[in-house]
Amino acid sequence: QLDARKPLIAGNWKENPCTVQEAEALASEVAEATKQAGDVGVVVIPPYPFLVPVQNAASGALMIGGQNCYFEEKGAYTGAVSTAMLSSVGCTYVLCGHSERRTVFRNDDNAINRKLRAVLDHNMMPILCIGESKEEYDAGLNKAVCAIQLSKDLKGVTGEEMKRIVVAYEPVWAIGTGLTATPEIAQSVHDYIRGYLAKMYSREVADEVIIQYGGSVTPDSVDALMAMPDIDGALVGGASLDGAKFGRIINYK
Ligand code: PGA
Repeated sequence: QLDARKPLIAGNWKENPCTVQEAEALASEVAEATKQAGDVGVVVIPPYPFLVPVQNAASGALMIGGQNCYFEEKGAYTGAVSTAMLSSVGCTYVLCGHSERRTVFRNDDNAINRKLRAVLDHNMMPILCIGESKEEYDAGLNKAVCAIQLSKDLKGVTGEEMKRIVVAYEPVWAIGTGLTATPEIAQSVHDYIRGYLAKMYSREVADEVIIQYGGSVTPDSVDALMAMPDIDGALVGGASLDGAKFGRIINYK
């Protein structure tokens, strides 16, 4: 990795755990594990009600992020949480376009683009998740799908803003399935994504963008993934709910 790209490991807790007490206990365990870790940024992304308690339990050792947001700042939008709200409780990052939001909640690229814009406008950093489905992978379309998602989701984003965006390559067939892309496959897609960003913006911008890999990252797979030149971090789901496992992941070798 270039010096400008400090590794970033994020734990996406999804709709877990069920209680604030469990969330606080997990956050303290992860915070403890960062003490041995190298020069790596660690962010945990709990459900909204746990953001503040998690931040308090982590006593400064962790950054926090939102799993989603709505692009309208406030108003009559029952159930929505805005980027202004996330920023006001101390979020540094916000996931945009996670595959579960794209599929289960039917977020399209236009909505994802508007959310990403709102995150940038509130001085937080979007983690833009992209990646192909199993069918698209089988059809050899993994890079083409990433290119389409990047061009639609990044509409209107300037080169300076792009440097604040983290891209997470998450092949949908690898999420929660125990199937991790091999480090070589992941590296080849990451290299493609960086090349695509260089065409959209410039080589200088592309070289500064952190590109995370996500999809069944575990203590067993993290070291080889992180050894790849264009893999700058990991977005971890399942394994981030286990303090010992996530602790090992942030202490990757
Ligand atoms: P997983 O999830 O690590 O459980 O595969 C990754 C993600 O959805 O971000």
